[in-house]
Amino acid sequence: MQRRPLVVGNWKMNGLIEPALRLVMDIQRCLAVDLQRYQRCDVVLCPPFTAIYALQQFAVANHSSWQLGAQTMAVAAHGAHTGEISGAMLRDIGCRYVIVGHSERRTLYGEQDTVVVQKVLSALRDQLWPIVCLGESLIERQQGQTLAVVRRQLEAVLAPLLEVYAADQLEHLTLAYEPVWAIGTGHHATVEQVAEVHHQLREILYQHLPPAVAAAIRLLYGGSVKPDNAAPLLALADVDGGLIGGASLHAADFVAIIDAAVPAES
Ligand code: PEP
Repeated sequence: MQRRPLVVGNWKMNGLIEPALRLVMDIQRCLAVDLQRYQRCDVVLCPPFTAIYALQQFAVANHSSWQLGAQTMAVAAHGAHTGEISGAMLRDIGCRYVIVGHSERRTLYGEQDTVVVQKVLSALRDQLWPIVCLGESLIERQQGQTLAVVRRQLEAVLAPLLEVYAADQLEHLTLAYEPVWAIGTGHHATVEQVAEVHHQLREILYQHLPPAVAAAIRLLYGGSVKPDNAAPLLALADVDGGLIGGASLHAADFVAIIDAAVPAES
């Protein structure tokens, strides 16, 4: 099945409004060089919360083809949750996607599988498409636990989701395999490592979901993707795009990665 590629830029905690707008202008300029080609790829920018609205205004004014996402969200829908931002608020300022379970949220802010599940449920409730991050730590890989860890992380999400949603409502779920040891380190996973994990993720999807849904869910790879290593990783059969951190802060690099994700014309 041919899935539409998706490249997501995770800006993390980078980007005051002025530089964020400059970056997005640069991205737009790079995309304009071959708009027809780049429109064969979905592009999502996830700036910090504080820059989302300014980017949304820019996107509307410039008829931009990229979409907006947030880097996390609250579980609760509203109420006494000081400092939190709900899915409805994110929709209100133009977000379509939300990253859930990024390893930095898991390790720095203690988000366990149970919180990840609740956030995925909250995202779907608020009509946001969740991009769910999974991935093993270095120790887990060294101990040969990679496949068990990502299976646990994925099944922890799928089982509760299927209690609430019909399976055919889950095709807009996106999974991002991000080995923790590859994030921000400059050491990306090898093509063989990515192929093995993505193949297993797809198999797990087929075990739990109807074939059409299992085949439709996009699987991204993330972890030190750069213009010079993107092509072989993004060309793998079960890799449908990338979740890009550091390189998404440089317009030319980010667009070069989008370029590598665009499929050859059939
Ligand atoms: C990320 O933060 O999701 C990520 C993949 O970062 P980097 O591309 O910098 O490794």
